[in-house]
Amino acid sequence: MHGFLETPIEYLKGVGPQRGELLRKELNIGTFGDLLLHYPFRYVDRSRFHLVREINEELPNVQLRGTLSGIKTLGEKQAKRLVAKLTDASGSIELVWFKGIRWLQPVLKEGGEYIVFGKPTLFREKFNIAHPEIEAAEQWQQAGQAQLQPVYSTTEKAGAKGVNSRGIWKLQQALLPQLAGQVPETLTDELIAVLGGMSKEEALRQAHQPLDQSRLDSAIRRLKFEELFFIQLQLLMQKVLMQRDVRGNVFGQVGDLFNTFYKQHLPFQLTNAQKRVVKEIRHDMGSGKQMNRLLQGDVGSGKTLVALLSMLIALDNGFQAAILAPTEILAQQHFNTLVGFLRDMPLQVRLLTGSTKAPERKGLLTALERGDVHILVGTHALLEDRVRFKNLGFTVIDEQHRFGVAQRARMQAKATVPPHVLVMTATPIPRTLAMTLYGDLDVSVIDELPPGRKPIKTVHRTDAARNAVFHFMEQEVEKGRQIYVVYPLIEESTKKDPAAEPQFQLKDLMDGFESMVRRFPPPKYAVSIVHGRMDPEVKDYEMARFKKGETDIMVSTTVIEVGVDVPNASVMVIENAERFGLAQLHQLRGRVGRGAELSYCILMTGERLGNDGRTRISTMVRTQDGFEISEVDLRLRGPGDIMGTQQSGIPQLHLADLIADAELLQQARRYAQRLLDADPALREPENARTAGVLREQMKDKAAWGRIG
Ligand code: ADP
Ligand code: MG
Repeated sequence: MHGFLETPIEYLKGVGPQRGELLRKELNIGTFGDLLLHYPFRYVDRSRFHLVREINEELPNVQLRGTLSGIKTLGEKQAKRLVAKLTDASGSIELVWFKGIRWLQPVLKEGGEYIVFGKPTLFREKFNIAHPEIEAAEQWQQAGQAQLQPVYSTTEKAGAKGVNSRGIWKLQQALLPQLAGQVPETLTDELIAVLGGMSKEEALRQAHQPLDQSRLDSAIRRLKFEELFFIQLQLLMQKVLMQRDVRGNVFGQVGDLFNTFYKQHLPFQLTNAQKRVVKEIRHDMGSGKQMNRLLQGDVGSGKTLVALLSMLIALDNGFQAAILAPTEILAQQHFNTLVGFLRDMPLQVRLLTGSTKAPERKGLLTALERGDVHILVGTHALLEDRVRFKNLGFTVIDEQHRFGVAQRARMQAKATVPPHVLVMTATPIPRTLAMTLYGDLDVSVIDELPPGRKPIKTVHRTDAARNAVFHFMEQEVEKGRQIYVVYPLIEESTKKDPAAEPQFQLKDLMDGFESMVRRFPPPKYAVSIVHGRMDPEVKDYEMARFKKGETDIMVSTTVIEVGVDVPNASVMVIENAERFGLAQLHQLRGRVGRGAELSYCILMTGERLGNDGRTRISTMVRTQDGFEISEVDLRLRGPGDIMGTQQSGIPQLHLADLIADAELLQQARRYAQRLLDADPALREPENARTAGVLREQMKDKAAWGRIG
């Protein structure tokens, strides 16, 4: 159907088998369509000319027009260079070439008029331009005004073999004339009109060969819109299908368990945000449709409690509930929390992880299938086929971004009527990304912390201030507070892979611990150490001691990122803070500020910081807003990296940027929603093109299709 766009790139004039292979390997360009999707990353404005007099250091590139004189070579061998002077009405500037002299010298004419383009640099207090593009004015006029010159990205290897920006431009130039009538339209006439009336074909043409800025803008806008639109359409379509085809269990009543817990065991008042979210969840669960809801809330905002209350509703209606966590530590934490809250309730809460021993596992699985287990907490181990519920009615998934969509689907398959799903994330996701990644979910936000939390005073200190930091710690300990000192021992994975944890870092931690003990010696002070490589029993013991207030200072790795809740701990010292990602720093800081005391987070770094490190630290110092932090994180790391978009099944974005184009994204979503509201199955003739594109896009997403 789209034969033309799928034509192998070798069919293009100027591309033989060798270059074809190079394009495929280096740039992922295998077809005509791929080449067209290799958009310029910027455009150089060639529409205006500068005067020599206007040149200053700030100008990136200048285009000059003038007369050439004094063409000559200077120097020998390596130092050999070709120089010439370009003179316009305002003055003159030197041009210099170190390469291509043999080819260039014969064609440059003394006294001829030339167009020159390049970057002026200051050399011995005078400006010159090294390796400018140069073309005789006459020829330049004949060739037509490529006023906005596309610049393409390439790789070093491809560039060395002639596929540099200009090489790609030439390929585009060879392809564009063949485009007429070959590019299927993708949007409805209405949308095309809204976006300025440019067809897909024209937009592609303008992107690679813009006639002027305004047409380029329209083209780019249309192409970006289209990328975002089809992602949104796909996500919303999934939601439509799900709601049409998938019936949900109706949890019609809030019963004894919920009410008893709420009235008798809940140790505090819910925040308004928590109340609102519980209400939203209750509404979903009673609607007859399957709930798919994302719960976003900052660290410490009380998501776990919301999950618990929701689970009680499921239990009240005779169903089982499960909570899925990405790591053993988190699963353990949830388990402990739930058991703590529910200790006076007649409920069986059980834990299942990879390290649950076989005999225990066997009994657990039997009890689960009989329906004797009410709430099952666990890790990926829950997804295994042999884990069978009697009637699973509700699944909570914590930290969704570490689970793929496919895993969500596997939990769904564990019951005949798919269970309601609540996805919780403690790493706030920027709205734009949430919309892209989780567009098929409804979103609830807990935007309020439990009362009494004071802001955490965050400062940045370098080693030079270490004594002052120690002194401050001493004062806090004198006041009876406890302190965390965290080292960036990375990869605290449950995998027993020694290579994942370089030795020298464990040594850093040990050294840190020893110097801490020297500074805070027993018996006056108690300093402990905790890390992921320890015997779990020892670790638990140390954690428990800290929790009980028997230790003043706990030196640790990020094992404490999740899993401990010690209200009396009021200082978080993060060593080598520049080595942590923003999300992790935010999580770590969230470990303090849980009690009534004013809390502190001290970010220790070396004297010198890289740009990204500096940004991360200053962001932490500036704000405590998890959403703001995640925006910066997204900007620094890119969306693919931050959430593993690669695995999430979200099509790649070629042009659009989730942050910069947030507004366009919202617009695309509104139009996608409107389209589906009017024509949920995309059956109307005017939507045929759109339906075709969507079908194509969803074809290779078997896992997604399952959900829908
Ligand atoms: P999250 O999972 O969102 O990071 P948690 O559910 O772990 O947050 O809650 C953080 C702490 O706040 C816990 O100790 C929890 O018991 C407590 N908490 C939760 N909700 C409230 C509330 N409404 N009032 C007071 N404390 C609360
Ligand atoms: Mg939590």
